[in-house]
Amino acid sequence: MKFRVRSFMKEIGFKAVDDIVYGVHDGYLVSITDGNGITSMFVDLVLPSIDCEDSEKIKKIISINSKQYSILRAEVNETGALIVFASTVSSFNKLKDFFYTFLQQLRSAKIGGASICSNCGKPISSLKIISIYEHMHTCDPDCASHLVSKHIASRKRKRPNFLPGLLGALLGALVGVVPLIVLSRLDMFVLWCGIFIGLFAKGGYELFGGRNCIGKIICLPIISFIAIIPSLFYSYCYSLNEIWLGKHYVVSYDKIVELVYSYIIESGPIRTMLLTETVIAFSFAILGLLLTMRFVRKIHKEEVFIV
Ligand SMILES: [Zn+2]
Repeated sequence: MKFRVRSFMKEIGFKAVDDIVYGVHDGYLVSITDGNGITSMFVDLVLPSIDCEDSEKIKKIISINSKQYSILRAEVNETGALIVFASTVSSFNKLKDFFYTFLQQLRSAKIGGASICSNCGKPISSLKIISIYEHMHTCDPDCASHLVSKHIASRKRKRPNFLPGLLGALLGALVGVVPLIVLSRLDMFVLWCGIFIGLFAKGGYELFGGRNCIGKIICLPIISFIAIIPSLFYSYCYSLNEIWLGKHYVVSYDKIVELVYSYIIESGPIRTMLLTETVIAFSFAILGLLLTMRFVRKIHKEEVFIV
């Protein structure tokens, strides 16, 4: 968590979960996040509709203040008001000032805050705070546990599978070998193209709804490895054919494949070369897989839970 966020959190006595700073101030539940280029402040509210009288009042408060506090954009809906700032020190200072002004103006406009349940709209006797996709909402205990169990049930239903992901990874790897195959015709260092095999295999796995499981960790390197060997084999066949064509020999493709295969089996140096090149291309493929790790962690953060 950024230092400026942490010190503001201490200043207003808020807590944090998953880098989301939250707490009740002046009767309103506010969550603040600062990352990925934007800083945002979300105030939990319960409004009957997006164009109700209260909603119009809130939009007016925000638009009057937008210039003074450098607000990038704002959104008001039935669940609350989201105000977005740039992720800079000066913008965060504006957010801090706006935090006090906004809550005070909401209070003056008599907008209901943390004392109302976000789910059923009834007054809360015992306050629970639930986190839904990085925004905090107030609930009574019954609604909080109901929302969380509903979310868990829907996650279980929509749980993506391993097998479609495996198919996606295979198709992705098939696309990923194209740069290696195409560039190997240009007589240049192409082993770095292994990176595309890793990237596309992983992309395919996720595109087809593959689950984050141990199977994914095992299958992606294996598929990348399997995709590299025929690609390199193809590049050897191509080079051999080029050499023969340069000497005006025309040899059938079956014959070339057969010869390259026998060279690999019988010639130690060629076998060593294939192994070395496979290892290098595979290292790049692993790099491709590792490069996208961060995104997976981000997806995990989107949860519904009681804090
Ligand atoms: Zn409720």
